[in-house]
Amino acid sequence: MRRINVRDAEVLAAKFRAENGFSHTEPLDMKTVLRKCNILTLYRPLSENAYGMSLKARSGDKFVLINSTRTLGRQHFTIAHELYHLFYDENPRPHICGMDPDGVAEKNANMFASALLMPQESVLQQIHSKESIGNALSIATVLRLEQLYGVSRESMLYRLKSIGVIDEKKLQVLLKMPKVETAKEYGYDISLYLPGNDGLIIGDFGAIARELFEKGKISEGHYVELMNMI
Ligand SMILES: [Zn+2]
Repeated sequence: MRRINVRDAEVLAAKFRAENGFSHTEPLDMKTVLRKCNILTLYRPLSENAYGMSLKARSGDKFVLINSTRTLGRQHFTIAHELYHLFYDENPRPHICGMDPDGVAEKNANMFASALLMPQESVLQQIHSKESIGNALSIATVLRLEQLYGVSRESMLYRLKSIGVIDEKKLQVLLKMPKVETAKEYGYDISLYLPGNDGLIIGDFGAIARELFEKGKISEGHYVELMNMI
């Protein structure tokens, strides 16, 4: 599989937005995206190192499983990551997407997710010219951006570094700032930084999936095995 670059990721993300009726710059509500794309999505507690997984059935039906013990910001990024596997992965295979991205497909999916959730053009529009150069970005702007795009502090900061708004030194300074405390200080809702959505289901439940998930908590391995049978 070919490794995509930053430019490829931007093109694929723009294509995904255009094909699904979203503008190039609007912040995306990932639940709306899942509904529009008709992807059956389940939020369940998974193991500590797992973010989520996705599967495309032979019938063409698409499934996503998201770890509800991760923060909402992380969950949004994981959904965008899974969209890469479902729509652009040349060789999709059932796997758990987790904390240590291993292999080309995982890195490609992360680059796509970053470009889809935080389009460069959109991010730059949101930053005052005084803060967009010279590492002058304030924590107030970081908070506004992460809340606007619904992403974790880490995702937002790494994106800002990749598009050249901050350098490595500034990245490290901003990464050290406490998330919940700074959000509270500036009057933001802190749900982005907390787990959530446990038990939530998006999409139509097929008979097999219903039978499977009504049993309660299942293992990731079990999920992959059963979904492969559909
Ligand atoms: Zn993955």
